[in-house]
Formats: sequence, structure tokens, C-alpha cells
Amino acid sequence: MPADSAGVPAPFLSFVAEQPLTDHHCHGVLAEGGDLEELLTEGDGGPRAGGTAFDSLPGLAFRRWCPPLLGLPSHAPVEEYAARRAELGGAEVNRRFLGASGLGALIVDTGYTPADLLSPAQTAACAGSGTAAFEIVRLEQVAESLAARGTSARDFPDAFRSALADRVARPGVVGLKSIAAYRVGLDLAPGRPSEQEVIAATGRWTGAGGGSGDGGGSAGDSPAHPVIARLAEEALHRFFIWTGADLGLPIQFHVGYGDRDVDLHRCNPLLLTPLLRALEPSGVPVMLLHNYPYHREAGYLAQVFPNVYADLGLATHNVGSRAPALLAEALEMVPLRKFLFSSDAFGLAELYYLGALLFRQALSRFLRRMLDDDDITLADAERITRLIAVGNAARAYRLS
Ligand SMILES: [Zn+2]
Repeated sequence: MPADSAGVPAPFLSFVAEQPLTDHHCHGVLAEGGDLEELLTEGDGGPRAGGTAFDSLPGLAFRRWCPPLLGLPSHAPVEEYAARRAELGGAEVNRRFLGASGLGALIVDTGYTPADLLSPAQTAACAGSGTAAFEIVRLEQVAESLAARGTSARDFPDAFRSALADRVARPGVVGLKSIAAYRVGLDLAPGRPSEQEVIAATGRWTGAGGGSGDGGGSAGDSPAHPVIARLAEEALHRFFIWTGADLGLPIQFHVGYGDRDVDLHRCNPLLLTPLLRALEPSGVPVMLLHNYPYHREAGYLAQVFPNVYADLGLATHNVGSRAPALLAEALEMVPLRKFLFSSDAFGLAELYYLGALLFRQALSRFLRRMLDDDDITLADAERITRLIAVGNAARAYRLS
């Protein structure tokens, strides 16, 4: 077993450290800057609570692992780190962290793209010339773009079917994503809504926000643009999901942990059970994202439904040094052919790096313990690593 100078086993198994990863759920990186306090976690527990977001396990992991890539000692103070980061500039910081993440492919959610976020191809280019870029289309974004164009409720069902088919035909699109969890929760009825239900729900939605051009909206919105109301119509989310299933592409679901816009108690993946039963005959892969603190529930669903997959994105770096314990829990029940790596990094280059690094460390500890106990062979450990790192994503998303 490799050991460092203090005789402590090194944190990584060599084949885990060297294995390129497919990050099956992440976002674009910012071209420049980014507020470290703001982007480190999903919360407002830092400066707005009179402290710093770095007084947390993700903050301590950040300070442990990130400063050396900027030529600073581990645990360097955040102020010193931020100054060095600004001096190097966005392009160099992105190149250093993404380049050191060992990413073979990025599957990028383009549903939320503030102005200076790089595209999937640009983000992947920061990781190296060999890193492939793929795209996930967010279902709600396609609907909102139709509402912004003033599509009538009556025309909406056909317009959505055709707009979604066009979007997924673009090169590099490998899947879809639903953020129903953020809008209505995961307690979705199983059936496909009728055309009339979709038209009525669209009328309520666009009428509420002025998406069909009838004004309305909230303070602060520019009157020059139609204001799109929050998409809180359960039947519409079901319509999006079933329209996506008809196209045969994997559908990612936000599950569990997210920012405070989510009602976490409505994001338990077990609430999806009736819909998962209904979707099963379609064979469409259902990718449960994040899952914390319902990672055990997600593992159960992945065990009992042949088309359900799970990951631990976002949570992996948000629990910092506790990532090995969390990954071990997530892997208790999930078939090893159904678990994927993701970082859910957004904006900060450091988050791709931390997500990958803490994942490799956690997987190394998990496998090393099983190797030490003779629960698996070295060949098993290497095969499990390849499945979770690349194989499962390649199969589910049919990556070439
Ligand atoms: Zn995400």
C-alpha cells in the first residue's frame, strides 16, 4: 500500500487516482472571478450570517486541497488565496483546476447560464484537449422560451413537442433534466396528462406571469420583456417528462439537496415511485441527481427499478472530509452498475477539482477497506472503479 512520509496510507488507490472521470452532472465554469463565499455552498450561512462560508467542512476541504494549485501552502488563509487567485486571472485558474481534475468527459446542464458562464465545449477545453463535452437540455427552459415568445396555451403542447425534438437533435445533447423538485416537488402523478390538462395548466401559468403577452410580473423585472411566472403546474412537469420519455433520452431529476428555493421535504425520491413504475416500460434511464440526505432511498430505487441510476453530486464536496462516510452509505444498496460520478460544480473551477478529488479519496477508502478485508479482489476493485467513473455513464447516455 503506498504510504506518505509519515507512514500514513496515501489517500488514493493508484488506479482510482489515474482513472479519468465522466462528470455526468455539472454546469459551466465562470470565465473570470466568482465570489468564493457565495459559490462555495448552496447557503447564505456565510457573510450574511455574520461569518464566513469557509467555517464549514466544504470550506476546510477547500483550504486543505486548493491552495497548492495556486502555489500556496495547504490551509492558506482565504484572503491570501483570493488575492493570488485574482492575480492569476480566470483563464489560468480554470486551466489549473479543471486540468488537474482528471475529467475525461463533462455532461453539462445548460439550463441556467448567467452571462459569463462558459459553454460546455469551452468548459471542457479548460480541462484539456482530450476532454469531451456533452449537453443536458433542461425541460423547463424549453417551455419558458416558448412562453417568452408568446406561444398560446392552445398551441403550447405541439410547440413544446417540436421545440424539444429540435433541441435534442443538436450535436452533443445526450439527455434531459427536470427541476420539478424545485417547482412542485417530486410527488408527481404517474400518468401522462391529457392535452386539455396541459392547455389549461399552460393558461394558468402564462396568465399568471404574462408569458403570453398580457403583462403582469413582479417588481424589478424589465417591462420590455414578458415576465415568466414560476412554473408551479404539476401537470406541465409531467407533460415535459413524458414528452422527454417519448424521445428516448435519459432524464435527470433534481433530488434532495439544493439551495433554499427547494422544499427539501418534497424532494425525497421515494415520492417519485408511482411515476417510476409508469416510466419503467419506456426503458428510459432515470438519473437521480444529488440525493443527499436521501442517498439511501435513491440507492433503494436504483436497486428495484432497472432503469433508475443515482449519484452523490453536490453533496460530495459539501461534506468535505466526511465524503468517504457519505459515499459508503450511498453505495450500500445501489447496484454498482447504477451509480455515477458527478461534481455538480457550478461557476468555480475549484468545485470540479474538489468534487473529483474528494470522490476519488472516498472511493479509494471504500475499496481499500474491502480489499483489506478480502471482500473483493484487486480485479473487482479496478472494474468497479471503471464502472462508476465512466462505464455506467457511457451506457446510460449512450456516449460514443
Ligand atoms: Zn446542478
